[in-house]
Amino acid sequence: MTELNLILLGPPGAGKGTQAERLVEDFGLPYIATGNLLRQAVRDETELGLKAKEYMDRGDLVPDDLIIAMILEFLESQDTTNGFILDGFPRTERQAEALDEELEKRGRSLTTALLIEADKDTVVERLSGRRVCVKGQHNFHMTFDPPKHPERCDVDGSRLVQRDDDKPEVIQNRLEQYQQKTEPLIEYYERKSILRRIDGSREADKVSDQIRATLASLKFEEQV
Ligand SMILES: [Zn+2]
Repeated sequence: MTELNLILLGPPGAGKGTQAERLVEDFGLPYIATGNLLRQAVRDETELGLKAKEYMDRGDLVPDDLIIAMILEFLESQDTTNGFILDGFPRTERQAEALDEELEKRGRSLTTALLIEADKDTVVERLSGRRVCVKGQHNFHMTFDPPKHPERCDVDGSRLVQRDDDKPEVIQNRLEQYQQKTEPLIEYYERKSILRRIDGSREADKVSDQIRATLASLKFEEQV
């Protein structure tokens, strides 16, 4: 396999961000977090960014083809000889089809869709344990990285709070939304035989080991 063109999928709290960082380190691939890409383009007032801003100012969703154009523009500005990592897009089957078409026009295709999974209890424990201080945004975790005092920041002594997004009832809702939206996308990549499931409920090192082994076996399959 000459290219690793990867898509990252997974529910909030499955550790997708951590694994994305490690993939970037391990493989030196350009990493595209679509949300950041969009914000950056708007901030830099690029041609596509200005177009996107028109939609956003009207309170409309930025159309798929505009997002895909941004992704392609970014890819063309980077060295993607060895591949790339795409995170946050596509989110629907329609977007996935459109992306495939555009890649195909450029003689490329996705190599693998990595689905980092974790069961509901794990995700709720990870997310609901997070605390942030009201002052300097220092992060803690009540189980995995507890502060010395349960309600105070170790660094500046300010109060620790839980983000609204991390409240159990909100997490439940985020997970349901994720599942509804992503299920058809997972099936789409399964049909294309490029979906690989990764057990994200284990500790981060074990998860990266599984990802490395999965990608290595893909290279092996191609050589045979
Ligand atoms: Zn603090």
